[in-house]
Amino acid sequence: MNLDTLLDGPLRGLAGALARREVQAAEVARAYLDRIAAANALLNCFITVDRERSLHEAEAADRWLDARAAGGADAPASTLLPPQLSGLLAGVPVAHKDIFCAEGWRTTCGSRMLENFVAPYDAHVITRFRAAGAVTLGRANMDEFAMGSSNENSWFGPVRNPWDTSRVPGGSSGGSAAAVAAGLAPAATGTDTGGSIRQPAAWCGVSGIKPTYGRVSRYGMIAFASSLDQGGAFARRAEDLALLLDVMAGHDARDATSAVRQDGSFTGLLGQDLTGLRVGVPRDWFGSGLAAGIGTAVQAALEQLQRQGCVLVDIDLPASRHAIPAYYVIAPAECSSNLSRFDGVRFGHRAAGYRDLTELYERSRAEGFGAEVKRRILIGSYVLSHGYYDAYYLQAQKVRRLIADDFTRAFASCDLIAGPVTPTSAFRLGACNEDPVQMYLEDMYTIPVNLAGLPGMSIPAGFDNGLPVGLQLIGPWWQEARLLQVAHAYQQHTDWHRARPAGVPGVSA
Ligand code: GLN
Repeated sequence: MNLDTLLDGPLRGLAGALARREVQAAEVARAYLDRIAAANALLNCFITVDRERSLHEAEAADRWLDARAAGGADAPASTLLPPQLSGLLAGVPVAHKDIFCAEGWRTTCGSRMLENFVAPYDAHVITRFRAAGAVTLGRANMDEFAMGSSNENSWFGPVRNPWDTSRVPGGSSGGSAAAVAAGLAPAATGTDTGGSIRQPAAWCGVSGIKPTYGRVSRYGMIAFASSLDQGGAFARRAEDLALLLDVMAGHDARDATSAVRQDGSFTGLLGQDLTGLRVGVPRDWFGSGLAAGIGTAVQAALEQLQRQGCVLVDIDLPASRHAIPAYYVIAPAECSSNLSRFDGVRFGHRAAGYRDLTELYERSRAEGFGAEVKRRILIGSYVLSHGYYDAYYLQAQKVRRLIADDFTRAFASCDLIAGPVTPTSAFRLGACNEDPVQMYLEDMYTIPVNLAGLPGMSIPAGFDNGLPVGLQLIGPWWQEARLLQVAHAYQQHTDWHRARPAGVPGVSA
């Protein structure tokens, strides 16, 4: 098979060809690294590319695959994964959002604060990918500390949307989404605190999943808002995401919110038909805030699901209209606490000159953090301060509970929920510079899902004026396999996930 066909096909096909030794991991890594070398100057998807280090990892995967093919080897040196998963992705390249600490890799979190920080240890997610034999393809660009919806808040410059390079890719995992969309990586990790996987997946025309809160360990994933942050993945297809989640998800004692679950493989329901599945449609989400072209595409996707046997039922999520104000109290509150560790002493950037300790803190933080991060720290410190705590923080927590209760009620009458991911499609670079609230509103359909801790996906569902549109699928807690089943069945009957942006340097579309 032609290498390009293999690279752009399902992950399972690539992993299979590697396992059968029809292709070498080093060859695959080199092909992707060449694409990145040709396209990254334009798209800026990667903050760090280390060709030598990636090829070194690929060669190790080749040695292990050779040994296994010869009947020799055990799992790669780790007992972390169950036998059926160790080596599952041997030789498969994965781009990692620059928020996951990876030993020996510069880990910047998109911030000047960590510009020169080389992680001394692996995040749990990274450990699992290593145990599966995956090859690190580089470190994906992101909004600083995962705060943003456009990737314009990165210290390392904005990422450009491969479908229209005058537009943003979405954020905060914009580098990951754009890399997969452009064909610079077959898979990428991301994190989603308020939409940072689903929104860029929608705007770049790729598939993305945010698992249930607690599904993927946050150990070594640099914290933004700990009660909301959740790691997940991007790929072209739902079936690829199932494979990635099999590797990423699992209990980790080092994250106190990591769940102990025995749910089996996320591929478990793939291929089962959808007859009789009840899909809840939040009619409120199709109101005047939604761009017409997105409404049309999402409506067509719902009809497609109906043709495949799903039953559509109307549901109400009345409290979700308070999600954005509640989130912009809770997330900044948690971030102001989490980011206090960056003090110029323990981690990262330290100002060159200072007279005393206070000035060391002040100057290091003033220089190390960008405007959006500072805005969030200020809001967070304010809402947590004495006298305001009850009025803002406590109130927001109550709203959060109401939102979660709405979902619980809705799931009594449906098996999953489907609707839009974003109110508009990708905007032009700079369009929201003057008005952060305009950007905050992009997350109106994604943030309720984080506040309730539910799993959510975005899958390609058409175009609005030539720009990709996502369909959001939301499930009850721990029902990722159901979402993946529905997404996969949809992708068996539609071609939106196959569409590729033209004109990416070094990549033949
Ligand atoms: N856009 C949201 C924010 O700026 C969500 C970011 C995220 O999910 N990490 O906070």
